[in-house]
Amino acid sequence: MTHLDCDILVVGGGLPGLLLARQLGLKSGAKPWRVIVLDGLPAPKPEAVPPWGLRVFAIAPAVEAGLRAAGAWEQLPAGRVGYYRRMHVWQQASTADGAGSLDFDAADLGATHLGAIVEHDLLRAVLWELVGGTPGVETCTGELAAVPPVASDGHWLLQLADGRRVTARLVVGADGGASQVRSLLGAEGPGWTYGQQAIVAHVASERPHAATAWQCFRTDGPVALLPLADGHSSIVWSVPDARADALLALPDEDFAAELTAATDGVLGALSLTTPRRAFPLAARHTPHYTGARFALVGDAAHQVHPLAGQGVNLGLHDALALAARLAEHRVTVPQADPGDRRVLRRYERERKGDNLATLATIDGLHRLFAASGATVARAAGLGLGLVDRAPVLKRWLARRAMGAADRARS
Ligand SMILES: Cc1cc2nc3c(=O)[nH]c(=O)nc-3n(C[C@H](O)[C@H](O)[C@H](O)COP(=O)(O)OP(=O)(O)OC[C@H]3O[C@@H](n4cnc5c(N)ncnc54)[C@H](O)[C@@H]3O)c2cc1C
Repeated sequence: MTHLDCDILVVGGGLPGLLLARQLGLKSGAKPWRVIVLDGLPAPKPEAVPPWGLRVFAIAPAVEAGLRAAGAWEQLPAGRVGYYRRMHVWQQASTADGAGSLDFDAADLGATHLGAIVEHDLLRAVLWELVGGTPGVETCTGELAAVPPVASDGHWLLQLADGRRVTARLVVGADGGASQVRSLLGAEGPGWTYGQQAIVAHVASERPHAATAWQCFRTDGPVALLPLADGHSSIVWSVPDARADALLALPDEDFAAELTAATDGVLGALSLTTPRRAFPLAARHTPHYTGARFALVGDAAHQVHPLAGQGVNLGLHDALALAARLAEHRVTVPQADPGDRRVLRRYERERKGDNLATLATIDGLHRLFAASGATVARAAGLGLGLVDRAPVLKRWLARRAMGAADRARS
């Protein structure tokens, strides 16, 4: 049976796992780490990815810069990236004077855009291909088996589902919210479900989206309209489980009518251009991102409600930070060990504060608008209007959403 050997095994080739591997290869000097990225789902060539995949992400400018440095951003076809310049956030049926709304404009921040809407499958295919051509790094199709790894003489021995074995001096869990690495290495942390599902689909609208991300806070959950480069919008509509099931069972026209009402008709009548898909929503934070020869990045370490479109952005910042610390170590220490606890702790310290603060803010926002009853929600809506009239606070919030507050260095 084949035996694979590497310095660093990255379990999970989602966006954070792939960006980590790419940066390790680019930044680790003349003798880069030997890295394997393992995933059960290999990505197709970028040109084979069908246009307008349902799963799209709002990518913050600070993360876009990291993806540019990795050579990924310019590989995205121009017509497939939807830059948005404005954001309008409001509370359901807020007062006509706009007391319950908040507006951001890139121009007020001296920026060209507030973020970009990108398809997950396309960006993943671009990164997968880049990683395959990066010195010292290879992609491997396969899944980690649910067999506890064995520690031996400065490395882990791991078992794959097809019987192959891998030895690695550092194992990185980039395997998502249900991380096998996290549970096998005993790094589980508190998690909770929201009893909600996020329904995603693409829609055409009566009025143009005007390069604006629209988000309405409703007492039963937030709904967002994210502007796509083809003129359509991607919806992320979070609702309680029973309501999600009922909405998913509706014929297309009835669903579109409900959605139009839920968005207060902000873009006029909406109509579906794709099927609908729902994702159950959960949050989690593991107290230890690192331990004996392991590290966690992305949803394996922390999961947030998608209402602020931050999840993958946090994961990509993790990837940039961990790659920077490991590469720095490789370049400056002659007999560098990728499992060095001091290096791993540096990464953990760098990322934990920002991830926890973001998780707490997003969870707090969710509870404020959804779980506290109409009176508190009205007060919160009024708060949106007050923030809108407080330029310093508003500017700080906008810069945070753009990722500028993060300290991750690539
Ligand atoms: C509806 C919705 C909308 C969202 N919108 C946004 C947004 O606009 N902006 C944003 O920043 N975030 C958004 N998110 C969050 C985002 O989806 C996640 O934060 C992100 O996908 C996490 O990436 P990840 O690679 O850590 O995990 P995943 O995307 O789950 O990837 C994990 C990878 O690991 C692989 N894997 C799993 N187990 C194994 C194993 N045993 N062996 C080998 N491989 C394995 C999987 O095949 C997969 O490729 C949204 C989430 C939802 C639900």
